[in-house]
Amino acid sequence: MKAISGTNLEQAKSHNRRVVIEAVRTNGPLSRAAIARMTALTAQTVSNIVEELERSHLLVPSEAQKLARGQPIIPYTINPRGAYSIGLELGRQRASGVLTDLSGTVCARIERHVEHPDPQRAMPALQAIVEDLQQAFAFDRNRLLGVGMALPGRYADGGTTSLSPLNLPGWQGFPVGHELEQRVKVPVLVENDATAAAIGERLHGVARGLGSFVYLFLAGGGGIGAGMFLDGHLYKGSRNNAGEIGHIIVEPHGKLCSCGKRGCLDRYLSPAVAYEFMGIANAEELLPDDLDALIAKGGKGLDAWLDQAVQPLRQTVDFLELAFDPQTIVLGGSISTSLMLRLAERLEPLHTPIDPNQKRTVPRVMIGMTGKDTAILGAAALPIFSETNPRFDVLQKPLG
Ligand SMILES: [Zn+2]
Repeated sequence: MKAISGTNLEQAKSHNRRVVIEAVRTNGPLSRAAIARMTALTAQTVSNIVEELERSHLLVPSEAQKLARGQPIIPYTINPRGAYSIGLELGRQRASGVLTDLSGTVCARIERHVEHPDPQRAMPALQAIVEDLQQAFAFDRNRLLGVGMALPGRYADGGTTSLSPLNLPGWQGFPVGHELEQRVKVPVLVENDATAAAIGERLHGVARGLGSFVYLFLAGGGGIGAGMFLDGHLYKGSRNNAGEIGHIIVEPHGKLCSCGKRGCLDRYLSPAVAYEFMGIANAEELLPDDLDALIAKGGKGLDAWLDQAVQPLRQTVDFLELAFDPQTIVLGGSISTSLMLRLAERLEPLHTPIDPNQKRTVPRVMIGMTGKDTAILGAAALPIFSETNPRFDVLQKPLG
């Protein structure tokens, strides 16, 4: 069992509230006494917070456990229907949105075709999706935390301006978060797809409860990025562009990359390269089942891709471990699930760690969410994360 410790200072009320939510989400159901033990908060503080969270419908009591002596114990769990979030994603020809509850379960989904999605065409479409999602499912609108959006590409200072996402023209310098917020009247958070997916994994997936991990996002349409969750917070870099790992050189003088350099990781490991090797021309337009069928009989092309992709992947894992000392590296992304599984089968043996005898509590590499919903569910996780994740920088002592 793991939890994050809290602090009893009055001004840290919001932090303590987050610590309690996190403890129950990661370890629940938990009684008040158990929460107090795990978070190092006083019984009185925990009681106050639990009462407040129960009033705001975020925690619900489950059935009381009767004891031979004394008061029965009431365990609390997260109420999935206590809050909602909307995730948006913009692709080359479509805009999509999901409404999820606090547990990440999809309650409604909308997809729209948008020809040439420049800001003039895409913004009204995204606004309509946000409005229609709220009509598509019956819930208390006051419980909508906000909208998260996953947008591939680089970001300008401040994080809300997208700079030339490679395949979406017209977005240079456009303040997408701010503009969307004006339209939909709820908070909007924008992140690149790798960071959004990392947050999704932290909230609902294999990285639940982890303080440090690096998420390697393999985009189905091509491109590789890393989301870095280190020491309890997102690491975004000095200009919000940390994690552009697809463009580290793994093969000096190797294949020419779209960035102008030669031998970038992207040119070996990207799913787009796998489809090139297999002779699949229109992978992005295929239904997942049809794509899986083509991968299943991928034959020599698939083997040839794996042969030249696996060594750069091992090198990348080695580099990320040595540079960031994470608890684990999560492989995921909008890559087809069956392609990821073929890659994962070939990954071992990894390079020998620098300290092979170091005790590990989680595997060196874990497989996270894959498939085309990965980024959009990550986007929906952004407002939930922002509302409920403890800010680790005000922590006093983590509990083992
Ligand atoms: Zn490159």
